[in-house]
Amino acid sequence: MKGMHYIDGKWLDSGDKLIDVMNPATGERVGTVPNGGKEEAKAAIDAAAKAFSSWSKKTVYERSELLMKWHDLLLEHKEEVAVILTKEMGKPLHEAIGEIEYSASFISWFAEEAKRLYGRTIPASHEDKRIQVNKQPVGVVVSITPWNFPAAMMARKMAPALAVGCTFVAKPAKNTPLTAVRMYELAEEAGFPKGVINLVTGSAREIGAAFTSHPDVRKLTFTGSTEIGKELMKQCADNMLNLSLELGGHAPIIILDDANLDLAVQGVMASKFRNAGQTCVCGNRIYVHRAIVDAFSTKLKEAVAKLKVGNGLDKDVMIGPLIDKEGYEKVDEHVQDAVEKGAEILIGGSGNTDNDAYFYQPTVLLNANHDMLVMKEETFGPVAPIMVFDEDDEAIRYANNTRFGLAAYLFTDSMSRGTAISEGLDFGIVGWNDGSPSSAQAPFGGMKESGIGREGGMEGLEAFVETKYISMKVR
Ligand code: ADP
Repeated sequence: MKGMHYIDGKWLDSGDKLIDVMNPATGERVGTVPNGGKEEAKAAIDAAAKAFSSWSKKTVYERSELLMKWHDLLLEHKEEVAVILTKEMGKPLHEAIGEIEYSASFISWFAEEAKRLYGRTIPASHEDKRIQVNKQPVGVVVSITPWNFPAAMMARKMAPALAVGCTFVAKPAKNTPLTAVRMYELAEEAGFPKGVINLVTGSAREIGAAFTSHPDVRKLTFTGSTEIGKELMKQCADNMLNLSLELGGHAPIIILDDANLDLAVQGVMASKFRNAGQTCVCGNRIYVHRAIVDAFSTKLKEAVAKLKVGNGLDKDVMIGPLIDKEGYEKVDEHVQDAVEKGAEILIGGSGNTDNDAYFYQPTVLLNANHDMLVMKEETFGPVAPIMVFDEDDEAIRYANNTRFGLAAYLFTDSMSRGTAISEGLDFGIVGWNDGSPSSAQAPFGGMKESGIGREGGMEGLEAFVETKYISMKVR
């Protein structure tokens, strides 16, 4: 597949400057995209700025209709887009299809919800005054998204932005730009006017710098690492850009002694091993009550033993490759470090790196402690370290002892213990007996160094509007 930039309604290249997109399961080339930089970014922003005045003046009903056409086309083509996604990213095909459906759910939800972006009137303190509050689109939005959810991370930004009347420039991740290209082809078919949606591929550093320095940009929305998020936040200061940041996480999973163990194992499997552990909301450390640690570990081991590792396009594969060599080495380092510091490998613990493809066996570690890297840094791999606790307060303290605050999970059938723990957790998202809490209608985002702002839900729509207060003197 040969991807291109999409700027002002035209498909463009960058001469012979190309990026090879590789299949992480085979080491083979899947296709190419242009290796663009600041010129392409500038052209795309200029186009978006030009299109803003007419797009923002359309009624929300017109914009929603186009979004719904895009939604329908995406679902009609979901298998085909999912195959591209699996080829460039590695996740099992059933997960890729799930991601396309999940992406489509953001488009339809925001197409509907934007119709209810109400302002308000406020009783004034003077007889001759009226106070009105309006919501209006923030302006040109630029987005930078990561490789682990190439479709969903872009859709969840793009849908609300377009629905409220912003115009958009996307930069997908270098490893996974082809899914975005195909989604843009479908969006073009849906009929978005030229300049409303733009896509540039290439150098992250150059495009990021162009995004944050162009005077016509009003908002940057970024999903990626905390490290790059901080860098971008500094860059945004000069133009005082509006900013949403979805950054790293280090999710704790707390399993109490009264938990339904089958449900807990099911939740851990969903949270920990989905996408081979490469999501920012993946459980990273599992705290299990001492009374049930043996029973829980045995059940988890049985479930993990059933996971088939391989090429995501092959039938029954549940764990695809890690994205690249660096990702693999980090996972292996975390496991080696844990073993050196006293962890016991219950299952897994090694990988396979033939033919530039990096597979890691799903791994469960017992006797984890807080000196281990795996308990402190984002592993981004299929490794589940288990540490024992005795008291609920101790579990909350362990869980909160991190600079991150994205997702946390707890498993208990007790309303009172669960309520106390969920209220005590310093995390933006809490899954209670639920290993996969993300959904279009709920606010997703982190506290502390996991980011600023929320995506999804009403908050995800508010992220793309400015509030304007109009004070009217009526006589
Ligand atoms: P990940 O490990 O998920 O790739 P990164 O933060 O490295 O996390 O990358 C997330 C996205 O940010 C990718 O699209 C990447 O190309 C982009 N990116 C990386 N470095 C920069 C940078 N200096 N400026 C702008 N974007 C960047």
